[in-house]
Amino acid sequence: MNPKISQFLNANQLTTPCLIVDIDQIEQNYQQLHHAIPNADIYYAVKANPALSILNKLISLNSFFDAASWEEIQSCLNAGAKPSQISFGNTIKKVSAIQAAYQANIELYAFDTIEELHKLAKHAPATKVYCRLAVDNIGADWPLSGKFGTTVEHAIELLLEAKKIGLCPYGVSFHVGSQQTNPHAYVNAIEKSALVFNALADHDILLEMINLGGGFPIHYHKDVPEINQFATTIQNSLTQCFGDDMPRIILEPGRYLVGNAGVVSTEIIQSSQRGKMNGPRWIYLDIGRFGGLAETEGEAIRYPIITMYDGSTTGPVILAGPSCDGVDVLYQETSYHLPLQLTAGDRIALLNTGAYVSTYCSTCFNGFTPLEEHYI
Ligand SMILES: *Cc1c(COP(=O)(O)O)cnc(C)c1O
Repeated sequence: MNPKISQFLNANQLTTPCLIVDIDQIEQNYQQLHHAIPNADIYYAVKANPALSILNKLISLNSFFDAASWEEIQSCLNAGAKPSQISFGNTIKKVSAIQAAYQANIELYAFDTIEELHKLAKHAPATKVYCRLAVDNIGADWPLSGKFGTTVEHAIELLLEAKKIGLCPYGVSFHVGSQQTNPHAYVNAIEKSALVFNALADHDILLEMINLGGGFPIHYHKDVPEINQFATTIQNSLTQCFGDDMPRIILEPGRYLVGNAGVVSTEIIQSSQRGKMNGPRWIYLDIGRFGGLAETEGEAIRYPIITMYDGSTTGPVILAGPSCDGVDVLYQETSYHLPLQLTAGDRIALLNTGAYVSTYCSTCFNGFTPLEEHYI
């Protein structure tokens, strides 16, 4: 485990469940990505973890921000980000949110439908807009495809229309799916983007920006390619597609910046052999699907677990949350083996829980207090 977090856990008798996040680790991750792809501007995907301490640290590093809502934009502005550092990256926005963002001088907006484009032309006139492309999410443990993006042909039409209605067609974006483990996913998407650039150039519209989205993976239960492998693959593809006419490159990492900086400490409520003598052993934790571990749906994201008895005899377990909901089972198909000694009252640690945990926590389902957060 991260030594700083381990020390903090030992030094403090914290109420569980809780999330501890090491801010220095986030700085390291940011610098690592910045060095790997130095020609890109990093827009932190705020939804991964909008904690003020994280925003403050990233502002001190001159990061940009990808916001999904007016509320996230406000959080960034309140933390001290300038409007020019913020992109309104959700392609589906409330009119009131567009109006508020425009009032606040936000300059950059995403879209992928004609309806959104018209909303933007009306409520955020003359701003820079970029069109999200639908791209393959194969290789992603947490895919985002289907709900967002459009085809190359449609994107070309929409960007031409953007110009006609007084907006500034600025570029294209895509998202290859979260926890994307295949660097080549970016290549296909960059090639699609280049098709849009070329078609617009034929109409004398020079797009300026390509937004590669997020997706960079972290190490959960299996090895993933190093960030440098992604960087090399991406740079080669960009060079091949754009040569000397390199557009402005934007990245929108969420998980990569904060995921490995967080640890959840949780108490075992019960460890019991259910039903018959040889039935499976169930371990019920005080955090579950509704307490923030939403990404265990489909057992897609598999958090590594550390216990105080590591090294002793283990056996298979089914892991479940505390609520009275039947879907509140974390891992049943995935083979988790934990020490047989574990019993009610013991605390265990779920690693790599810095992203997509704190905000997924429900407000009070079954009356359970939402997890506490500590940023150190
Ligand atoms: C969620 C999201 C991201 C961040 O994705 P990660 O896989 O966490 O890096 C980036 N861009 C957009 C538009 C998103 O919705």
